[in-house]
Amino acid sequence: MEAELDRALATAHTPTLMMALVHLTGDTSHIDNAPPLVYEMTGDGNGNLAPALQDEVKAKVKAALLAHKAGKPLAPVPNTATLRKMMNYVAGVEIPPHYVPFLEEELAIDGRDPKQPAPIAPKLKGRAMKVLIIGAGMSGILTALRLKQAGVDFQIVEKNPNFGGTWLENLYPGCRVDNPSHMYSYSFEDNHVWPYLFSTQPVLLAYFQGVAKRHDLAKHVRFDTHVNEARFDEAANEWRVTVTGKDGKQEVLTATAVVSAVGQLNQPNYPAIEGVGAFKGPTFHSARWDHSVELKGKDVAVIGTGASAFQFVPAIAPDVAHMSLFQRTPPWLSPTLDYHNKTDDGMNWLIQNLPFYDKWYRFWLFWMGTDGVYEAMKIDPEWADRKDAVSPLNHELRTMFTEMVKMQLHDRPDLIDKVIPDYPLGGKRMVRDNGVWLDALKRENVDLVTDKIARIVAEGVETADGKLHKADVLIYGTGFKASSFLDTYKVVGRGGKELHEEWAGDARAYLGMTAPGFPNFFILYGPNTNIVVNGSIIFFSECSVRYVVGALDLLAETGAATMEVKKDVHDAFNARVDEGNAKMAWGSPNVMSWYKNALGRVSQNWPFPNVEYWQATLKPNPDDFILDGGDATKAKAA
Ligand code: NAP
Repeated sequence: MEAELDRALATAHTPTLMMALVHLTGDTSHIDNAPPLVYEMTGDGNGNLAPALQDEVKAKVKAALLAHKAGKPLAPVPNTATLRKMMNYVAGVEIPPHYVPFLEEELAIDGRDPKQPAPIAPKLKGRAMKVLIIGAGMSGILTALRLKQAGVDFQIVEKNPNFGGTWLENLYPGCRVDNPSHMYSYSFEDNHVWPYLFSTQPVLLAYFQGVAKRHDLAKHVRFDTHVNEARFDEAANEWRVTVTGKDGKQEVLTATAVVSAVGQLNQPNYPAIEGVGAFKGPTFHSARWDHSVELKGKDVAVIGTGASAFQFVPAIAPDVAHMSLFQRTPPWLSPTLDYHNKTDDGMNWLIQNLPFYDKWYRFWLFWMGTDGVYEAMKIDPEWADRKDAVSPLNHELRTMFTEMVKMQLHDRPDLIDKVIPDYPLGGKRMVRDNGVWLDALKRENVDLVTDKIARIVAEGVETADGKLHKADVLIYGTGFKASSFLDTYKVVGRGGKELHEEWAGDARAYLGMTAPGFPNFFILYGPNTNIVVNGSIIFFSECSVRYVVGALDLLAETGAATMEVKKDVHDAFNARVDEGNAKMAWGSPNVMSWYKNALGRVSQNWPFPNVEYWQATLKPNPDDFILDGGDATKAKAA
């Protein structure tokens, strides 16, 4: 074991080790006497700690862990004051007071799962409550297991034949997540050994399916079943959900509440370009990759240079004879040298063998990634140069990222102007760059075409300059119809109102989850709950699901049949969100992206720090809702 420990310590994250050491010994002197950590964008993540000091910490951890393995018990869980000192130290800053409870919960140092719901079932006193979850992806799985913990009856309807959602559908070469694995995971699934620092699609699919299996969820799911319509029956106070099964038969399922967990990014967007459909060769969208089409030795046309193309272009470029890559707008490249790296064996060993290493490593990632770069995306109204940057800090990052691109293109200066965006950083989704993208663009067999596409024709793609770019295969990397929420089924609420008609192309919901006139209907990853630069979408899902379970608890507690958000509450929330988004880079009028709907409103993104979503979703406020029936006096107590 000693040899493994030595190897593991050699590459360990020292600030995390310093935290683990407190748990082993109860002593904090190594923190008290150390210089504050200073993290730099280009640093190694160890906060500029001197190598000698890092060696000292590692020697202490080694001695303490060996003693622990030999039988010495861990120190008691640190008290609140010590924990706060540790959090501040590892974060490298004095954590603002309103972040403390939020981060303490995320850290969950006592080993409990703080978001696990208390049982709702006993409060129902014989009344039936049945929840229908639409979708068995990351959010649907989470909802199901939380409802199981709460003792609430539920059923999932899923259009695909298995769990996994986005990670089941996106099978394009090179597909992986752009959030660190130790953060892009459920908070309650500790000590998970990840093979990559940023998980690949097969790893994530196996992870989500593994969680579903561990919680024995399959028996609650109707796979291969498509939801056509959810209709609220006012007389019965229940939802009637029409589905079509694998055998083509329609059926109506009933539920007291519906949780829509269908995601935002899964309905392919085929661009409004003249001639779509005219191409005579094989053609497919990145999210519907046709693996039966041989690309080797073929001339391939790719439309789009967003996050999906950014991953599959480098993966297929070496195989194809020639690629014409059509770029309308370049993405910002965020330097991430270790993007494709495996986790090292040392890290995995520590996660399994050094108590609390996993917790603190995740905490560190969470803090650094949560609201770390958020400030740089805020529009400074005093800042004059509004076109390509939104603030001095945003400009500073722009300069740094631009330099990194220029360095990579020292041998191809002709590409520089084509790949450096003219819009502010954070205006669109940034992509993680470890060099493979620009290497692909530099290849002799790849042409980055920035001329406007005029039309698609039988032989390929014609640009506005009249040039025909011939191709054997055409691939759309053109993203998703993100602003068309719940696009695949109708939702009919009180008074026969249809949700999409109400929205009229401008989806809104209170906290992204509930809309007036649609009682007991909850949306996950709904309007304005997407994030651009800060945090993981799984964190958002955990917050939303806690809120939904809290809402069901409120119904059980009060005996109310339905709850429906008040219109003024909903409208005031959306006005605040719009105001917030107008102050962020992605709300800048200079940028068009999938974050905005056709009316130009940012209907996808949460504009505030993560901590504000956490606070807002801790528990539903009964005053925000019309509780129909039951004993409303119990609402306050709930
Ligand atoms: P996307 O970011 O919306 O990119 C679509 C691309 O197609 C853009 O380059 C867009 O250009 C281009 N395009 C669209 N319509 C066009 C037209 N009419 N003519 C020419 N070009 C056109 O879609 P995506 O790449 O599939 O990514 C969507 C989101 O999914 C990401 O932002 C991310 O949130 C998520 N995602 C994440 C990962 C990951 O974790 N690594 C991977 C894939 C996807 P414009 O920019 O000019 O509109």
